Amino acid sequence: MDKSIYMINARLKCGLILALSLIIFSCSKSQEPKKTIVKDMSDKIVKSESDWKKELSTEEYHILREKGTERAFTGEFWNNHDEGTYYCAGCHQKLFSSATKFESGSGWPSFYEPIDEENVEVEKDTSFGMVREEVLCSKCGGHLGHVFPDGPEPTGLRYCINSVALDFEKEQ
Ligand code: FE
Repeated sequence: MDKSIYMINARLKCGLILALSLIIFSCSKSQEPKKTIVKDMSDKIVKSESDWKKELSTEEYHILREKGTERAFTGEFWNNHDEGTYYCAGCHQKLFSSATKFESGSGWPSFYEPIDEENVEVEKDTSFGMVREEVLCSKCGGHLGHVFPDGPEPTGLRYCINSVALDFEKEQ
């Protein structure tokens, strides 16, 4: 009899601990800073093509605004191993961290995920007789590159990005 009471007690304790840890877990989840995502047009940079032309270099304009592609192994960052942050060359939105950069062998800087999924947009691109997923900066709409489903873990994605579309700031 004593033993069964002890068992019930132990089960109750277990249940309590489980419930408590669930509560703590969900609390800590909800305490994560909430992103303020403004989905209206004021959040986006809208410029005329002639303004972009004035502000960007010829190469940047070609890649970002005309959806060009730099030649493989010619860009500034495919072989950059410094730690830091990659920004959009058009509007300075944060895009990728060096922590998610990997050796793809493609000749373009490759990342398995953006710093924030809200900072990039993915659109279907059917140019050149291929079906690809185009990656754009969500703030200025600049063309960055493409994303392919052959990347490493943890996402299995390969964001294949033009160096010209990026600015890099080395970690201090
Ligand atoms: Fe941008």
